[in-house]
Amino acid sequence: MNKLLLFAFLFCLISFGAKSQDNFSKNKVIAHRGAWKAQGIPQNSLASLEQAVALQCEGSEFDVWMTADGKLVVNHDADHEGLDIETTTFKELRKHKLPNGEKIPTVEEYLKKGIKQNGTKLIFEIKPSKISTARSEELATKSVAAVQKLKAEKWVDYITFSYEAGLKVIELDPAANVAYLMGNKSPKELKEAGFFGFDYNIKLLREKPEWIKEAKDLGLTVNSWTVNNPEDMKWLLDQGADFITTDEPELLFEILGKR
Ligand code: MG
Repeated sequence: MNKLLLFAFLFCLISFGAKSQDNFSKNKVIAHRGAWKAQGIPQNSLASLEQAVALQCEGSEFDVWMTADGKLVVNHDADHEGLDIETTTFKELRKHKLPNGEKIPTVEEYLKKGIKQNGTKLIFEIKPSKISTARSEELATKSVAAVQKLKAEKWVDYITFSYEAGLKVIELDPAANVAYLMGNKSPKELKEAGFFGFDYNIKLLREKPEWIKEAKDLGLTVNSWTVNNPEDMKWLLDQGADFITTDEPELLFEILGKR
């Protein structure tokens, strides 16, 4: 009897542990640069991450650059308020606020906010340097270090247009999920290099739908950007895409709700 009770207790403990570790939403909806469009707030702001979490998106994507003095900041374009991020110091960049009054977020601030919840994953885009491949690799190295320092591995999937940056992340953290964005590698090449999947332009996937099947057969994940058109959303869902990256998460939820 005692053994039975002990077994039941252990079983409860294990199932509770498994549940508390992963409450991430599974609905394929990845908010591109956070949820900002319908809300009228700046892309890649902490507020846009908050909104993606409030919508219960499966993931919230954000873009990361490295300043001249080696700090990681979240911004889509290569410049912030006319200042080229890669050749400007962090101190200078921070003087120029986002339209909602926020300062340009650091990666640390973004990750800290993201790991306060565990429903929405953080889709961390490592931007390719315009200066050198070595700088893209340095950004990848610092990105992995920032994630590991905050113990945020469970939240973060990486994406990148820089094949070299992707390989660097895989080398530094073989358990990390890394998807490639450029569209110039076949599913077989990505699998062999240790990638988790691809995140390719919707136009390319419309031309090469066979890559979706090939990826799925190889156990790779399929994501696509930037899918704002209902017909493309429905087509990707029919193809069995794992994720859909969109500026219109509300629209994708509406379509999912009707299926
Ligand atoms: Mg991006």
